[in-house]
Amino acid sequence: MSEPNGLLPVLADRIRREGPISVADYMALALGHPQFGYYMSREPFGRSGDFITAPEISQMFGELIGLWAAQVWLDLSSPGQFALVELGPGRGTLMADMLRSTARVHGFGAAAQIHLVEMSPALRARQKAALPDATPHWHDGIDTLPGNLPLLIIANEFFDALPIHQLLHGPAGWRERAVDLTPDGTLCWGSQPAPQALVASVSPARSAALAASHPAAAPAIVELCPAGAAISHELAGRLVRQSGAALFIDYGYADAAAVGDSFQALAAHRFADPLAEPGHADLTAHVDFAALAEAATSAGAVAYGIGTQGGFLQALGLETRATQLMARADEAGRRAIAEAATRLADVQQMGHLFKVLGLAGSGLKALPALTLYRPG
Ligand code: SAH
Repeated sequence: MSEPNGLLPVLADRIRREGPISVADYMALALGHPQFGYYMSREPFGRSGDFITAPEISQMFGELIGLWAAQVWLDLSSPGQFALVELGPGRGTLMADMLRSTARVHGFGAAAQIHLVEMSPALRARQKAALPDATPHWHDGIDTLPGNLPLLIIANEFFDALPIHQLLHGPAGWRERAVDLTPDGTLCWGSQPAPQALVASVSPARSAALAASHPAAAPAIVELCPAGAAISHELAGRLVRQSGAALFIDYGYADAAAVGDSFQALAAHRFADPLAEPGHADLTAHVDFAALAEAATSAGAVAYGIGTQGGFLQALGLETRATQLMARADEAGRRAIAEAATRLADVQQMGHLFKVLGLAGSGLKALPALTLYRPG
């Protein structure tokens, strides 16, 4: 990390003028500042980057999700046109693998209009190159997605990149955790008054858990992701109106009462100080899946899951697909396929930490490989 940090002076200037900024504003700028944001100019994935995601580990991930999507399309009575939407497609690998594995599902590819929600110009270029036979439509956000077609929506490691607020709950009440500046001009943690609307949005389950816990020396941290909840709510409403389904996969938790700090930075495959190098490290927070499910059901969609990635991939036939691929591979290839399957599904690796939430709108009575969501 020897490159000079272009974002630091921008943040310092703003904090000097306006005071501390919320964790949410910090995260949004560190990831999405048009010039210095982490995702805006670089390609952070893969061995030489900062982290590896499931589609980059193995083609099996995208292939199985493609078959999931094809089954949902069949369950919708094979609409002649639909929007196949991906939120935050990264390098385009997942979509490319989905399109390949569904190529033999008669009619699916011809009916699919590809829509990609991606804020980064650098990654849009990468996605274009990964999908030479498709003609994707790109969107800055979900608002411009088609309003008149059935939707099949996929998001892998998208929600963890959306800005979170951190509320501090202590004996004196609520504060919001903020990013401040030390006298020598480096970033440090601070706090500011908590906006009433945020405090009011803390779930009843979480409030009850806080009320029951002993007051600790350090305040408890409660994370809220209004941006994620708003997207889940808006998409769910569209699924009801337009028909279709969504699949959200990410690391996170299903416990609606969970409390604690999951804000983290990753650089060169290692955890880093989230304040050390804004714009040079990936910033994420664990996804509150119960909040996404609640936001979706309040818009009338039916939620499925919240399952584990391991269980979901097994149910979709991970072992069968691995065996098929191994039959065509040499010794080293067979080992790599087995390792990838373990990495994706084993409970010690991504299998348990990563969760799956499905949303169904009109036109569907069930979702493949997922059971009905039961809160609590
Ligand atoms: N799904 C990919 C990439 C995950 S990284 C994979 O699994 O490999 C997160 C992706 O979401 C990147 O493509 C990033 O540019 C995009 N992204 C993050 N925040 C976004 C936002 N607010 N709007 C649109 N895209 C966003």
